[in-house]
Amino acid sequence: FSTQTTPQICVVGSGPAGFYTAQHLLKHHTRAQVDIYEKQLVPFGLVRFGVAPDHPEVKNVINTFTQTAHSERCAFRGNVAVGRDVTVPELREAYHAVVLSYGAEDHRALGIPGEELPGVCSARAFVGWYNGLPENQELAPDLSCDTAVILGQGNVALDVARILLTPPEHLEKTDITEAALGVLRQSQVKTVWIVGRRGPLQAAFTIKELREMIQLPGTRPILDPADFLGLQDKIKEVPRPRRRLTELLLRTATEKPGVEEVARRASASRAWGLRFFRSPQQVLSSPDGQRVAGIRLAVTRLEGVGEATHAVPTGETEDLPCGLVLSSVGYKSRPIDPSVPFDPKLGVIPNTEGRVVDVPGLYCSGWVKTGPTGVIATTMTDSFLTSQALLQDLKAGLLPPGPRPGYTAIQALLSSRGVRPISFSDWEKLDAAEVSRGQGSGKPREKLVDSQEMWRLLGH
Ligand code: FAD
Repeated sequence: FSTQTTPQICVVGSGPAGFYTAQHLLKHHTRAQVDIYEKQLVPFGLVRFGVAPDHPEVKNVINTFTQTAHSERCAFRGNVAVGRDVTVPELREAYHAVVLSYGAEDHRALGIPGEELPGVCSARAFVGWYNGLPENQELAPDLSCDTAVILGQGNVALDVARILLTPPEHLEKTDITEAALGVLRQSQVKTVWIVGRRGPLQAAFTIKELREMIQLPGTRPILDPADFLGLQDKIKEVPRPRRRLTELLLRTATEKPGVEEVARRASASRAWGLRFFRSPQQVLSSPDGQRVAGIRLAVTRLEGVGEATHAVPTGETEDLPCGLVLSSVGYKSRPIDPSVPFDPKLGVIPNTEGRVVDVPGLYCSGWVKTGPTGVIATTMTDSFLTSQALLQDLKAGLLPPGPRPGYTAIQALLSSRGVRPISFSDWEKLDAAEVSRGQGSGKPREKLVDSQEMWRLLGH
């Protein structure tokens, strides 16, 4: 690889993985050109469409991503779906290296009867709806029921529970969409059950999110002290973060609250509860078969120790009436192209340290590499490692020698296919429009959710 050649690199996906990979590449190589392709019209992936509206501080990473996008050697190409508008082999032909950072866009199905009934939806779609993801704007969740059930006990489940139960006036100054806020204002949901197959020691949420639930205005927790029997002794052996989380659960479930807390709980009009040791078996329908009326849960007990602890059914079942079922049992990546290896069982691209197995010049980072777990900080660390591997290969002469056309070649293909990419300065126009639309109501922004309107604002 000549020292004069500009390494042409492209990244697929503009979430944290895409932006952190680009940032590291640009910082550690003085000539590399990095193009970031994104299928949505707008950048930032789950930072915009996943992170809850009442967690604005988490979204500050957008400032860092914006700095990266402003680099002269970086370009954002929105509205380009790789696999549809341009293929991975075409990108590999045009660039010296391609990094796949396209996240995990599917949800895991429950695989139980009744899953298709109206009133059942994935937490992923629900989150997309309140966060303004265009494809989920038609969701129209029916919140006229008294009880909602969330299947899964991770942070996404708690986000969804919190949004369902937060007094709407507390969301008014966030970037939640006006449409979602309107529906939440009319909500009749009073109780949210958060159901997990295993016990308190296996819950996947973290302490910050649990504390927010416990302190949520106008709500009270429902925890069954029986679920916590014998836990006091066990927690001595578990690692510190898990111990602190379990201690908080234990205190909330078993300690007598103080006078103030008793009064707070007594005046609460809404409630949330954790139901442990329950595995979903069947969604029950209303007598006319038209919608959800409840869920049948298999009672479980734990077998095995440590990481291998798993839930087995006891044979007993329990029916829980509800009008809404939200499945929050995980996100999942999709295969992007037949030429890219994919592990359908783990739902990731097989790789060693970010190098896609058997495909030189192809890399991956973020959730599509690691699976859909971990926060933005872990995604950052992981993306830096992928970038490091790529730069090592570049140095070792393992990438194609000679110049590559980069975006020039892809631009010609896109234009022949009638695809109109969105630049970062286009996004900044949309961003300014969103901020100004939010100003009247004191919101940080009112998100644009209609692609036609976005094109109109861009003068097309
Ligand atoms: P993504 O953020 O999903 O980015 C992938 C990008 O690729 C997307 O923009 C997508 O549109 C694009 N893409 C997909 N397919 C294609 C294609 N074919 N062509 C072009 N582009 C494509 N972490 C925290 O630290 N704090 C939080 O509060 C927090 N809240 C969360 C809430 C939810 C509901 C979820 C699901 C996650 C949350 N996380 C949070 C985790 C965090 O969002 C992830 O760690 C991180 O977003 C993963 O980054 P990624 O780039 O791999 O994936």
